[in-house]
Amino acid sequence: MKPVIAIDGPAGAGKSTVSKLIAKELGLSYLDTGAMYRCLAFKSLAAGYSVEDGEAAAALMEDLHISFGVGEPQPVYINGEDVTALIRTPEIGEAASALSQFTPVRQKLVALQQELVGEGGVILEGRDVTTVVAPNATLKVYLTASLEERAKRRQLEFIGKGMEAGFQDVRNQIEQRDHRDINRDDSPLKVADDAVVVESADRTPEEVAAKIIGHLKAKLQ
Ligand code: C5P
Repeated sequence: MKPVIAIDGPAGAGKSTVSKLIAKELGLSYLDTGAMYRCLAFKSLAAGYSVEDGEAAAALMEDLHISFGVGEPQPVYINGEDVTALIRTPEIGEAASALSQFTPVRQKLVALQQELVGEGGVILEGRDVTTVVAPNATLKVYLTASLEERAKRRQLEFIGKGMEAGFQDVRNQIEQRDHRDINRDDSPLKVADDAVVVESADRTPEEVAAKIIGHLKAKLQ
């Protein structure tokens, strides 16, 4: 069995950046589970459904094929259509967070994610990957940083993409997102029993990646 690294943590902790660095360094494939929730949210809004209608969203999965390409940013496709930038707006993030509370949605996406983890050789990140999607991962990490730090990072990301983003608005969005992810009934975001907690504040992504690779090596010994 090839290694599986699972990383959970709140919004803006740096999971994606760090996971991509580790994937490159160790030759693993990278699975962004949040992108899958975003794809479903995108389709659901396009169909005119309410973000409170988890059943309707889950039913959309029947005709929805999500795939990933290679590149930076990692290309994301829905039924072959490139939605990479379209799913990265704050609106889609909010809708994904709202829809992710519903069990029918989670069941469909978790099943798909477990298929993609398959034989291993993958690093995956999200909000339930250490607890539900890959509970037998070789290494489980909870990556975190203070709310202020995460909001600062997210704001810079938005500005970098040419989107307007006031600090207070970004901070409020992240706080709300965390609250929902931590308090939902089905697979809430939490630190798995055997996860290592890694702080990303005051460290570069490269330093965080090196720390996690160190934990993996220790595990494999
Ligand atoms: O990580 P990202 O911000 O792209 O995720 C969007 C939303 O999808 C999160 O706020 C969370 O509510 C949901 N999500 C989840 N479980 C995952 C990944 C994402 O509930 N494994």
